[in-house]
Amino acid sequence: MSFTHPDLNLTDPTKGYAHFVLYTEARIGVAGAAWNATVSIERQSPYAREWLDRLVRCEPNPLHTTLVDNQAIPKLFHPCVDDDKNSPSAVEGSGCICHRTWYDPEFGLPVVGEHYRTVGGDTDRWTYTTYAPLDLRPRDAFAYLVIDRTSGLFWIRTTAGTLSLLPEHHSCGYDVGRTGGGPCAFAEYLHKLVASDGADTAIGGLPHGQSADPQILAWVTSTDAKRTQELTMEDLKTIQRG
Ligand SMILES: [Zn+2]
Repeated sequence: MSFTHPDLNLTDPTKGYAHFVLYTEARIGVAGAAWNATVSIERQSPYAREWLDRLVRCEPNPLHTTLVDNQAIPKLFHPCVDDDKNSPSAVEGSGCICHRTWYDPEFGLPVVGEHYRTVGGDTDRWTYTTYAPLDLRPRDAFAYLVIDRTSGLFWIRTTAGTLSLLPEHHSCGYDVGRTGGGPCAFAEYLHKLVASDGADTAIGGLPHGQSADPQILAWVTSTDAKRTQELTMEDLKTIQRG
């Protein structure tokens, strides 16, 4: 299934831009993303830090609750031990297992941070969970794609300089440097991107029965793809030529 801008333009752009469709199964108490991939940031790279630096702190809202287990929803509201030594998330006065919530001002998507600090602070780290967008915004134009091996993530930079997580469907996570579903999904994304000369940045695989360009797939599964790099449209076309 392929998606185009009109399909995905679900939010009034003057009021925000989230591209979010809720999936629910009331019988078993599930509420989450219908299409967006969940992305976890555990290792910070310069790209991840740039993205984290623009996030805006906010109160937890219903979108944040879809990023955690139901049992963890109340924890979204508990303060960090740094702000309240008696927080339910505090552990023996200095340890902490709190949650913190932000939104991305560019795409409007929710971000939940999980704090893990041992008592005494020998280990003190945050991991972040969010959704990948389904597409760039209508006025965004592709400048280059980033394979970011430090964070293990994939990014896209617009011509205006905005960094976005690479649009990703929840059932089609990306990977490089091996064979398998992840590299296939990434090769299909690159195939669509090159075929449209950078215009088609939406999620969605190729039509049924069509496979990714063999040169692109060969490159994606090779060790050449397995390093941090920025790929312009010219670079991608060179890869396609083999
Ligand atoms: Zn904390």
